[in-house]
Amino acid sequence: MPTRKNLFFFAKNTPEYNEKIKEFQSIAEKSGFTIVEDVNEANIIASLGGDNAFLQALRKTNFKEDCVYIGVSTDKPGFYTDFTMNDMTTMIEAIKNEEVEVRRYPTIEVTIDDDSPFYCINECSIRSNVIKTFVIDVYIDDLQFETFRGDGMIISTPTGSTAYNKSVNGAVVDPLLPSMQVSEIASLNNNDFRTLGTSFLLSSERTLLLKVVQDGNDHPIIGLDNEALSIRHSQEINIRLSGKYIKVLKLKNNSFWQKVQRKFL
Ligand code: NAP
Ligand code: MN
Repeated sequence: MPTRKNLFFFAKNTPEYNEKIKEFQSIAEKSGFTIVEDVNEANIIASLGGDNAFLQALRKTNFKEDCVYIGVSTDKPGFYTDFTMNDMTTMIEAIKNEEVEVRRYPTIEVTIDDDSPFYCINECSIRSNVIKTFVIDVYIDDLQFETFRGDGMIISTPTGSTAYNKSVNGAVVDPLLPSMQVSEIASLNNNDFRTLGTSFLLSSERTLLLKVVQDGNDHPIIGLDNEALSIRHSQEINIRLSGKYIKVLKLKNNSFWQKVQRKFL
């Protein structure tokens, strides 16, 4: 951390946040940090807000691998936010005194047809946008694995396993295990359509291919973390572990499993 001194704040442009940033700015500058206006000059990116602000910060700054991200929440710490606005001074002190650790979180890469890839730190979800099921042919590498019919599917990273994935009974996965989890949303199972029915984990060696079977009435919507993308005319979605890791600053006594315990138990 000592060599990382250029700090960029990512927050909603509201008087409240601007006021907070000004406050943090003077604390940070006193400790030898430089506040930069251009994200390309940053090597630390601090998002202010909840997990949703953190997800937006990553997307809007293009999942920068040469930066360390810091999540600062408004009230209580979340999954990506180890710090709160009330303990900014503690945070700056912690960085200065090296009482922090940098965690590397795996991300997934989503390629829709031949477009350039998108990255996700939580999940990629594909859902019907109308009150009608839709059909997806699911391939693992070259194997046509199953044909899904239902509301949709969620492909989550380990850190995303505690979010949407968990709501559909997916497993919580240790982020030290680079993997992606495939979970179903309300699959229809009968003699014509059969899916595994449970979540499954894929290794970094695998590629998942989802082929949306178009019948002209499908309106699937793709979720990339908390951003939506309508894919009316897209056919193929390739998903794999990207090999890109996001560095996130965390307090030393705040492991992933401590966070899981704090939030759910
Ligand atoms: P939101 O609908 O406001 O938030 C959903 C909740 O998920 C919030 O409590 C959020 O925390 C929390 N969250 C986000 N990432 C998490 C993680 N990795 N582990 C545990 N909890 C997490 O939307 P949002 O805040 O922009 O978050 C987007 C995420 O919501 C998506 O990536 C997806 O995972 C999730 N989601 C869940 C469902 C569901 O469970 N049925 C449906 C759609 C989307 P904060 O309060 O700190 O923001
Ligand atoms: Mn939220």
